[in-house]
Amino acid sequence: MFGDLFEEDFSFISNNHCGKGKKSKPRESEPPAPRDFTNLSGIKNQGGTCYLNSLLQTLLFTPEFREALFSLGPEELGTLDDSRKPDAKVRIIPLQLQRLFAQLLLLDQQAASTTDLTESFGWSSHEEMRQHDVQELNRILFSALETSLVGTSGHDLINRLYHGIVVNQIVCKECKNVSERQEDFLDLTVAVKGVAGLEEALWNMYVEEEYFENDNLYRCGACDKLVEASKSAKLRKLPPFLTISLLRFNFDFEKCERYKETSCYTFPIQINLRPFCEQTEMDDSEYMYELFSVIIHKGGCYGGHYHVYIRDVDELGNWQLQEEEDGLIEERALGDTENAKETENPLAVLKRILSEEEVKQIPVDQLGQKLLEKKGVSWNKKYRKQYGALRKYLQNHPQIFQLTPDGSKVGLKEAHKFRLDSHGQNLQSPSQKNDVQWNCEKNPPRPRAASAGCHWFDLNDSKVQPIKEKDIEKQFQGKESAYMLFYRKAQLKRPPEARGNPRYQIPEHLLNEMNAANTELQKKRAECDSANNGIDLHLHLSSCYRFHNGALHPSLSWKESVVDLTIDRRKTLGELRQAVFQMLESWEGDMVLSMAKPLPAGLHLYQVLDGDELTLDGTGLADGADIFVWNGKEVGGTKVLAGPEHEPVVLNVLRLAEHNEGGKGQHFSETQLVVSCSTSLGQLHSALAPAGGIILKNGSGADREAKNWEVFHEEDMKETVQSVGLRDGCSVLILDSHDQSFVNVASGNLTAFTYDISWLQVKNFCGEEEEEKHVKITATIDTMMSDIKMKAIRELQLEEELATESCLRPVSGNGKLLSPVPEDYTVKEAELKMGSLLGLCRGKAPTSTQLFLYFMVGSDQSCSPEMEIVVEETASVRECLNLMLEKSGLSGDNWHLRRLDWCYEAGEALSQENATLKELNVCRGDTLVITEGKLPGKGFLKIPIWWLKPSSCKKHGEKAEDQVNGITWKMEALQVSAAAAPPEPAHPGLDLCYAGRIEVAGEASLEDLKMQSVVPWHLCHGHW
Ligand SMILES: [Zn+2]
Repeated sequence: MFGDLFEEDFSFISNNHCGKGKKSKPRESEPPAPRDFTNLSGIKNQGGTCYLNSLLQTLLFTPEFREALFSLGPEELGTLDDSRKPDAKVRIIPLQLQRLFAQLLLLDQQAASTTDLTESFGWSSHEEMRQHDVQELNRILFSALETSLVGTSGHDLINRLYHGIVVNQIVCKECKNVSERQEDFLDLTVAVKGVAGLEEALWNMYVEEEYFENDNLYRCGACDKLVEASKSAKLRKLPPFLTISLLRFNFDFEKCERYKETSCYTFPIQINLRPFCEQTEMDDSEYMYELFSVIIHKGGCYGGHYHVYIRDVDELGNWQLQEEEDGLIEERALGDTENAKETENPLAVLKRILSEEEVKQIPVDQLGQKLLEKKGVSWNKKYRKQYGALRKYLQNHPQIFQLTPDGSKVGLKEAHKFRLDSHGQNLQSPSQKNDVQWNCEKNPPRPRAASAGCHWFDLNDSKVQPIKEKDIEKQFQGKESAYMLFYRKAQLKRPPEARGNPRYQIPEHLLNEMNAANTELQKKRAECDSANNGIDLHLHLSSCYRFHNGALHPSLSWKESVVDLTIDRRKTLGELRQAVFQMLESWEGDMVLSMAKPLPAGLHLYQVLDGDELTLDGTGLADGADIFVWNGKEVGGTKVLAGPEHEPVVLNVLRLAEHNEGGKGQHFSETQLVVSCSTSLGQLHSALAPAGGIILKNGSGADREAKNWEVFHEEDMKETVQSVGLRDGCSVLILDSHDQSFVNVASGNLTAFTYDISWLQVKNFCGEEEEEKHVKITATIDTMMSDIKMKAIRELQLEEELATESCLRPVSGNGKLLSPVPEDYTVKEAELKMGSLLGLCRGKAPTSTQLFLYFMVGSDQSCSPEMEIVVEETASVRECLNLMLEKSGLSGDNWHLRRLDWCYEAGEALSQENATLKELNVCRGDTLVITEGKLPGKGFLKIPIWWLKPSSCKKHGEKAEDQVNGITWKMEALQVSAAAAPPEPAHPGLDLCYAGRIEVAGEASLEDLKMQSVVPWHLCHGHW
């Protein structure tokens, strides 16, 4: 009939009732949570077993039941240890129930498990457990227990405590014959529909008579005919414990569906059953019963949840309720119900904790401690990642929290001091109802002193909370309402030694088992606790450190300089200091503990750990923190500045490389520099850059593109390394004064890519000193030569006037000053290689229309020094000769100019005296030779004559002519080599012999030339 009454609505449960404990899911290795302040154990919900839990708690809090169960020893039940032995007689159900009860009474855990017990019932699957209703279960459980106790002294345990008899009687109106039928019961089922309460229902059942009359007559056995008769029922035997099941679930035959009766149904705390009994002559006390358990069903008829209100007859639990505390308890009850949801919201949690404080403000550190104690959550573990540091969080909610000016204490703002009553409406006690028999005159208030108090608890799976007796009224009606009632005979008195004594009557072996289990639990909790709260600290000892290059560095290896210390985070700073003292045995003088942090530059110190009464957690020490142990002043004689304002920063300093530094293409040298972040740029500048030099920063580190460089200007010099954003790994570029042409002053950017920037060397050839100065001038291939000259003059600290009187000349590998470079040329146009040497020489550089020429008198270099001259390229040969003669101090007109040939001999004559140098392809850097003698007259040529040796003539006929043509062509190429001594044949394949020169008129015919040529050949031939 109630097939799926116990189907639980799980979404409902998980939100409100069968929720997990206070702590968010304990890890598997973690021991179960201890009991909370009620000191009563709940029972875990194994998935739809809340009805079982409610019933088991009711049985547990029936002291006479549990004591009867405990009285059955191993000699009767066997032991669970033997349960695997094939021939051992082990009564598993009562044994498991005993053990569960012992755990519920003594084991320090928030909730016990019923797995072993349900397995003893043979319920191993979820489905099997869900197949029962609580009323049904009550019978099943009793029946199972009864069966398993057959043959023991406990065989009548259930009967003794729960068995009652109802007698149904029919009285014949005629012969007065009474026919009766007895009914045994373990619980009474009473109607709810159309009935105001329990007493009315009992009245209907056991006082009202039913009559057989008119059409509905009774057949009397004695009269043997249909007669009028009356039918009644009475309670013949009352059990010590009366269990009443309310028929809350009915079937609506019109709608053809089940429904839950939610109308008001009252039941008294005390009830006098005399009116319902067959025998009524005994003392009143024989009929008085007291309510001690109410199983409540919450939900509809197709699902829901069970929990139970139980009176703690023996005062085993810690029932701290007092009427005055109502508000607080209600709030706490709410808090627990809503706990899971609430802990997700740190604002609500912190508000609640502060609202429960008696003092106006508490230290912020203490708030963190209380959070851990009361809610089982650590700020750092649960909220910090999302909400930041606790203090910061409090500061960020000034509308709720009030911090003292120094930020050390916190309280709630006035408006938030009072109860959080967003749900208060639900918690209002229901208004007194007049129709309730609660305070009925025939049930005067029970004298409290007589009974063992009225400590009621709401046992809701793993949660146990104290409630007021009055709260039971809430379960008279509605979706959440009483479903089963348990009364105990008021006469049943508890022995004084049982009061507050959970060990009372528990057999020795179970006491021992529970003691051992508690010891084990304690051990596990301690282990878990220290595992959860232990933090590793790295202690850096000042004696193993020295301060250099802006930070602390271990003088030995890192490993030898650090001592690891594991300590409970809840210990105080004073205890930490003590532990460090003990570790370091021989420490002398002050001991200062400073927070430290390894930075790229080395170890840096921060705040001093102060306030020995603070917990480590409160000071913000986290697992893995570094602590420097020192005297607070100096390390190895060097004063150490601590704090974020003195953090050392590692900068990469780039400079243009010296010519012998770095590999190919490495124009820059890079060094690392450690500076304090509070160093001003001015200080940095004077340390790094020479006078007039500049600093550029590149925030992007490795990326050295021109656009990312930024010049620090004069007005930046008061800024600090930190304020201008120089961090570890940032690069700065140092440029000397003369390098600054790459900087666009307006934009502050480099104008060239740094990898294009290179340098040329300039040596001073203007001075008289032997040791000429050498400077390096940065340049790109697009730098103008005039700029390089000006930079060089400045770098060489020469007079500016020299600029107009000097020029730059490349210096060849063997030290020769080559032709000056025109000043309007770029490095690229001048075909200069980066890194090459230039000489700064006196004399004007040629313009691009001028030629720089070397000249000498006669081709013998040993007697004539090489001289230099600059002439316009449009000058004629004559003008050029005259200038050269003037410069060499010669006079007369018996001179002409020749080119220097490839053998450094005077070669081809510049015979066209009126032609310009440009027309004759005289180039910059050419050497001309002033040669004595007049040029041949106009119209005459001097022609070198070569003979092809007859002996070498291996070819004949038309081929010989080809060869001659070839030679002629060659001779044109060899023309320049007119020399006094005939050169060696240039072409091994051709045997040529030099015949000398002949002078011949330009108009002469080839025949004339041939004729003239023969004569010298004969002359010459003889020499060979
Ligand atoms: Zn009769």
